[in-house]
Amino acid sequence: MLVCVKTENGKLEMMDLPIPEPGPGQIVVKMTLSTICGTDMHFLDEIPNEALAIGYPGIVQAEGLPMGHEGVGVVHTVGEGVIGFEPGDRVIASCLTSCGRCTECLHGDYSVCTGGGTMLTGCQAEYYLVPDANISAAKVPDGITDEQAILPTDIMSTGFGAIDRANAGFGDTVAVFAQGPVGLCATAGAAARGCGLIIGVDTIPERLEMAKRFGADVVINAAESNPVAEIMALTNNAGVDIAVEAVGTQATFEAANLVLRRGGTLSSVGVYGMNPTVTMPTMSMSFLHRRVVSTLCPSGRDRLEHLLAVLQHRQVDLGPLFTHHMKLADAPQAYDLFRDKTEGVLKIAITP
Ligand SMILES: [Zn+2]
Ligand SMILES: [Zn+2]
Repeated sequence: MLVCVKTENGKLEMMDLPIPEPGPGQIVVKMTLSTICGTDMHFLDEIPNEALAIGYPGIVQAEGLPMGHEGVGVVHTVGEGVIGFEPGDRVIASCLTSCGRCTECLHGDYSVCTGGGTMLTGCQAEYYLVPDANISAAKVPDGITDEQAILPTDIMSTGFGAIDRANAGFGDTVAVFAQGPVGLCATAGAAARGCGLIIGVDTIPERLEMAKRFGADVVINAAESNPVAEIMALTNNAGVDIAVEAVGTQATFEAANLVLRRGGTLSSVGVYGMNPTVTMPTMSMSFLHRRVVSTLCPSGRDRLEHLLAVLQHRQVDLGPLFTHHMKLADAPQAYDLFRDKTEGVLKIAITP
């Protein structure tokens, strides 16, 4: 089978590898749709394979890292002890798998499982293995397209997670810093949650246009004006209830802190990659009574089923995120396009 593999930092190769065999608790899925995510770029360009092996035990194989953690497909084979999945079922799996038995899993924090949960890998292949399928996979209801169904595996769960971990309520004012795929999902999540004024910030005009489509009432181009000053003016200098950081830079983290009202919530979902520290400004009125939450993609079957229910029953259409369609054999070129952020690219649908 064809697999997109990271051989060394910045380098990808399409390889011909054997179809995996499912071990106990595992299923093998025949991929019908995969996509590239910002996290893939951190893995490819920034983090050496050795560091990945330490930070994400179990994901680096001898040949290199099989790329891709977001996928939809059809169950091909089922391992021993898997209940409720049969060959032919359409399925998705959380990009972070979980054991279901460790302390974190029992708290419901499946994405930070310490009992063997890991990052899903190898979805940019004709077949991929899902460990702990009983906990980490879900069936896709009829009527949900592959392009919708793939989003709960990571970016929709992360973006919506930024909103629900901030305990956003009806009418809350929300600013979302960066309108890449995760930020757009946070914007859509704020709208779905019944928030009030929603403000989207980015520097790319196409992304700001998309933010309006996803529920932003006001958009600010940070390349043309100072978003902190604009947001304070928009809120009569009160600040916002919730500010979401959705890209992972010091500048956006700082700006998100500065626009919070006193007692507001800073919700961080950006991936800071190899950046070891972010610093928090103290010279703002919200510092003394500020809540900071960070969220790693909420995972597990229950989460997937809840997000699929939103896609099935609410007027939430995240389909426009797919701006490009490419074939698996061209995955390395898809990475180049995604890295360059040209052609208005947001998500690239990769099909076999
Ligand atoms: Zn992802
Ligand atoms: Zn666990």
